[in-house]
Amino acid sequence: MSQDLIIIGAGITGLTAAYEAQRRGLRPLVLEASARAGGLIQTDHVDGFTIEAGPDSVLAQKRHALELIRELGLGDEVLDVRPPGGAFVLRGRHLYKLPSPSLLGVPLTWQALAQYDLLPWSARLRMALEPLVPARRSQEDESIGSFFRRRFGAATVDLIAQPLLGGIHAGDIEHLSMRALFPRLLDAERTDGHVLKMQGARAGDPQKQDANDRRGEAGFRSLRHGMGTLVRALEARLLPDAVRYASAAQRLEPAARGWRVRSDDATFEAPAVIVAAPAFVAARLFATIDAEAARLCEEVPYVSTVSVALAWPRTAIAHPLSGTGFVVARRASDVRITACTWVSSKWEHRAPDHVALLRAFIGGAHDPEVVDLEEDELARIARTDLERVLGINAPPVLTRVYRWRRAGAQHNVGQRARMEALDRRLAQHPGLFVAGSGFRSVGIPDCIADARAVVARCTIPAC
Ligand SMILES: Cc1cc2nc3c(=O)[nH]c(=O)nc-3n(C[C@H](O)[C@H](O)[C@H](O)COP(=O)(O)OP(=O)(O)OC[C@H]3O[C@@H](n4cnc5c(N)ncnc54)[C@H](O)[C@@H]3O)c2cc1C
Repeated sequence: MSQDLIIIGAGITGLTAAYEAQRRGLRPLVLEASARAGGLIQTDHVDGFTIEAGPDSVLAQKRHALELIRELGLGDEVLDVRPPGGAFVLRGRHLYKLPSPSLLGVPLTWQALAQYDLLPWSARLRMALEPLVPARRSQEDESIGSFFRRRFGAATVDLIAQPLLGGIHAGDIEHLSMRALFPRLLDAERTDGHVLKMQGARAGDPQKQDANDRRGEAGFRSLRHGMGTLVRALEARLLPDAVRYASAAQRLEPAARGWRVRSDDATFEAPAVIVAAPAFVAARLFATIDAEAARLCEEVPYVSTVSVALAWPRTAIAHPLSGTGFVVARRASDVRITACTWVSSKWEHRAPDHVALLRAFIGGAHDPEVVDLEEDELARIARTDLERVLGINAPPVLTRVYRWRRAGAQHNVGQRARMEALDRRLAQHPGLFVAGSGFRSVGIPDCIADARAVVARCTIPAC
């Protein structure tokens, strides 16, 4: 087969790129290192449970994922988070509900701030003074920790920024980039001089929020049979043999027709190549072509995490589990898990009746070695922590451990500038592109948007 485009990696980025390329009349070839497509997206169906090993949802506000889902004919499969929503933060041995309305732990009404039980009164008062804190003049990137300390006060760093914003990325808030991950908060400071945008009482009106939800504009969405459905739908749209499994790209070099890729089992050429694999893989592939591009990719660190799915009879859990789950304020608690999703409270169709499915997370930037523990030990850590926090008095009826080794790209301070520098280097090599979570994209909707945008660029001169 003669291909117009080689895509390295069949995660959501690579698959979307292939789908988009086909839609534009090109013949893509995807090389995938493992025996399955989807990358971090993996849904297992076991004994009546639907278990997400990796991502469980997409953010509706970032429209590209839902657009693709509908385009693939999966509109009827879209699931909303079950009411009542709402997440908790574990501090000490107590779960504190996040105030409503709030966004990324930042309250949106004075009433919500006043009811922010997680924060001591002195911290609530300091947060209320945020509009009086002078705006920073510098346009330089900044860490999440630095931003929260400066705008909202030191107490919010450990109690809000670390568990909520750092937790999403399993990262270290003293390194994670505001510019790359939460640009809207930075932009609010720059344009308005402050971040808190207290709205009138109606902003917290549940009816108004429901109306937003009905229009599909807010919150998280999943798919009835799990996010794996999206992967299978994309695979089904690709031409036979468009994805070559167990064929890791090992070497990339210039060729007469553009680029040559040597994989585990064969050699391929095409006018264009999109690297949609992790940045450390791109670093290896670029090493012989452009040392500076390789160095920029190598600079993107990755963390390892573990997700542990556990299920109990509903009656064995004392906690009402009314909400979506909790994140852990690491410095203010003594558990090793970093978060827990109450899966069967959050989504329908995930567990048999009268059984609660939970998913605990371990690892990340602050616990790098845990990923190397035996599976039994990982399951024990998750189980013991959940027993203590939620008051569980029986053995689980299901346990599944998923290790994600070197899987979470860390968009640390300077990531945007690093990617701009990488783009400048790659512009010297026509037909060579990168896309996905190691580079510019944060989460599935961004990966989808990035893949489509890169294919649009690479169809013009080279192919
Ligand atoms: C536990 C967890 C939970 C998450 N939850 C969410 C969530 O709820 N919502 C959300 O939007 N995002 C979530 N994310 C992030 C989201 O999963 C990623 O942003 C997204 O899936 C990344 O897709 P990708 O295609 O860029 O990379 P990947 O999924 O990492 O795919 C890269 C692919 O490249 C392949 N590969 C590697 N080396 C080679 C090689 N040499 N040759 C060929 N192929 C190679 C890999 O095998 C893999 O299939 C979560 C991440 C994790 C780890």
